[in-house]
Amino acid sequence: MAQYKWIKVPTSGKKITVKDGVLSIPDTPIIPFIEGDGIGRDIWKASNRILEASVAKAYKNKKKIEWMEVFAGAKALNLTGELAPQETFDAIREFKVAIKGPLETPIGSGFRSLNVTLRQVLDLYACVRPTQYIAGIPSPVKHPEHTNFVIFRENTEDVYAGIEWEQGTPEVKRLIEFLYDSFKVKIRPDSGIGIKPMSIFGSKRLVRKAIEYAIQNNKQRVTLVHKGNIQKYTEGAFRKWGYELAAQEFGKQTLDEKTVWEKHEGKIPAGKVMINDRIADIMFQHVLTRPMEFEVIATPNLNGDYLSDACAAQVGGVGMAPGANIGDEVGLFEATHGTAPVHADKNVANPTALLLSGVLMFEYMGWTEAAKLIRNSLGKTIQQKRVTYDLERQMEGAKKLSTSEFGDAVIENLA
Ligand code: NAD
Repeated sequence: MAQYKWIKVPTSGKKITVKDGVLSIPDTPIIPFIEGDGIGRDIWKASNRILEASVAKAYKNKKKIEWMEVFAGAKALNLTGELAPQETFDAIREFKVAIKGPLETPIGSGFRSLNVTLRQVLDLYACVRPTQYIAGIPSPVKHPEHTNFVIFRENTEDVYAGIEWEQGTPEVKRLIEFLYDSFKVKIRPDSGIGIKPMSIFGSKRLVRKAIEYAIQNNKQRVTLVHKGNIQKYTEGAFRKWGYELAAQEFGKQTLDEKTVWEKHEGKIPAGKVMINDRIADIMFQHVLTRPMEFEVIATPNLNGDYLSDACAAQVGGVGMAPGANIGDEVGLFEATHGTAPVHADKNVANPTALLLSGVLMFEYMGWTEAAKLIRNSLGKTIQQKRVTYDLERQMEGAKKLSTSEFGDAVIENLA
């Protein structure tokens, strides 16, 4: 086991291991957690209590999580002098499954997002964001129950690769000159420049994860969402490589939309997955007007970022939206929302997104009994209209609870 300076490894737990892509989960897994900045401090406390209570209940104390705090963000800076100490990356890599609260990123300061850094350094290339409705949650759409899909967002490439130069710098000037001299490409001299790389490797491994998920979870549709009509050699190539991957690696299990219409009268044959694609802009309309046509969505980084927040709005907002960042060996689970600084340390924020991220983590670990207990309890608590401020203000007759009271209510309803 690696030696850590700041992290205290629990002596009683065991490590999760991975062999040939298969997880082996001990009864007392050591799970690293990052509390997070801002509301992270409030929602982690509540979520942690519920996760522990559900495990105790589901497995009659035969299983137990040994939490191990690892540091990033403001807490890490205070303790270690660094925002993201190397040992945090090492520990998550070593212990395989981790959960985190949101971390703050100052805008436009030249400081790169810690969240993006974690995903890139650990090569967590698939950002998995389920959009699922819980009955009783206020929604701006008429039939939120039709919104039930999982977005696989590519997590390491695209404009998030962090290759950009600030307007006015010698680097940007050189690049503008180079592009003109070499390719006769004219760029206004007062421009900043960002580069959008998208590779066969990065695109195919993301689409592979999405198709594998569809097959394992009996889903029949995987939709590639891209902006290939405009950005032909990045977004358009993502589409092309996605279809290629499906044919090369899942030829027997998949078929395209044209074949479904021409040979099967528009009905996907049992046991098969239809691969289709949609252009990103119209997709924002489709998820509102005919969400039931989608089950699994695979998309490049920026599209996926926008789309998952927009879809979250349909099922109650980012306070309800969980997420997972998955690589070949490591899974890091986190809410979609940020640190909401105005609500920090006030015990008012909604812990559901982080809690549901914990539920995804349990499902990933095969602890489905504990996951189910929480899903049922959460549903019941919402039906009882015992909710935090963000939902209470939209629900008639609801009782407004603090973060910790909401945590108590969910624990009370674990049955
Ligand atoms: P945000 O998600 O933090 O908050 C936007 C608004 O949504 C809040 O003001 C609040 O009204 C509401 N909200 C969000 N989460 C809520 C919750 N759990 N309960 C109740 N209401 C909630 O987005 P932002 O203000 O754009 O970003 C703030 C900071 O968070 C920035 O530094 C940003 O970089 C960071 N951020 C981090 C992550 C992450 O850690 N993965 C994700 C997004 C943003």
